Amino acid sequence: MKTNITIAGHEIQPGEKKTINVPLPDLYTSANIDMPVHVINGVEPGPRLFVSAAIHGNEINGVEIIHRLLKSPDITHLKGTLIAIPVVNVYGFIAQSRYLPDRRDLNRSFPGSKKGSMASRLAYLFTQEIIKQCTHGIDLHTAAIGRTNLPQIRAELNHGMEIKKMACAFGAPVVMNSKKLLEGSIRQTASQLDIPILLYEAGEALRFNEVAIKAGVHGIISVMQFLEMLPPDGSHCDISKKPLLAHSSSWVRAPQSGILRAVAELGTHVEEGEVIGIVSDPFGDNEEKILADGCGIVIGRTKLPLVYEGEALFHIAHFHEPSGVIKAIEALHELHGSD
Ligand SMILES: [Zn+2]
Repeated sequence: MKTNITIAGHEIQPGEKKTINVPLPDLYTSANIDMPVHVINGVEPGPRLFVSAAIHGNEINGVEIIHRLLKSPDITHLKGTLIAIPVVNVYGFIAQSRYLPDRRDLNRSFPGSKKGSMASRLAYLFTQEIIKQCTHGIDLHTAAIGRTNLPQIRAELNHGMEIKKMACAFGAPVVMNSKKLLEGSIRQTASQLDIPILLYEAGEALRFNEVAIKAGVHGIISVMQFLEMLPPDGSHCDISKKPLLAHSSSWVRAPQSGILRAVAELGTHVEEGEVIGIVSDPFGDNEEKILADGCGIVIGRTKLPLVYEGEALFHIAHFHEPSGVIKAIEALHELHGSD
């Protein structure tokens, strides 16, 4: 692979660091809009890793993860190239919205097209300028608005050993195998281009979550060490250890509309038939218990107590060894503090 890289017409030589403002369509006020891309090109050649955040404009934990990653002294003396894009969906970020102004979801618009919708054009630009120039990728997300996720890696583990090892190196307490990738997602495009990509899901939209952020920075550095972009420091994950892989997961839904009193916290172990919440009307009459549909760990849940019948409330992942996951969650809080 060549050691210089060109993004939006700007060349970055080996040993150079640059922030490039990739021009996007203006706001209708006529103000200019750019997508900031920070490139650190190491002196020595090596993998090219992109780390992207806020493809969903209101998922801001990843923005802070990239901020701290770029400030970290650990990433000096980098081999290969790190391309960091803290805010991909700049319009959604400004509007504090998941979507683009055309109400489309950018993560359903990849690989995009030059003459398509606003979302499709942005996806196309990102595919051409970033994804196609890289050998590996990490995309940072949080749960959608009103929900929260336990730090977890989602990856197409059947795609090969490299992606499996990256998922393991990240060191999140939970790894979910994506057997089928969402149509139009960045992961589907990367997969079709044979670029191993991890999705890190942690925390909630429009909030910073300290554990999720610290675990994210640590995870990215661990993956960079596995890729030999950074020297090992002994603190990164042992990739010979089996990842704590969920064999399945399911959403427990509201049995009726009402006010939710959630019992099960994120990261707790639940048994089949255990009461994990109660939904009732505002007077407390017509109470209905919500039961866990199987033994597992709560990896996602709603934060909003106002629910409609059928709404997804608790995301439960099922493991062969749930005790290992509980230990990993405890270790995560010990390492990164709790909040
Ligand atoms: Zn997202």
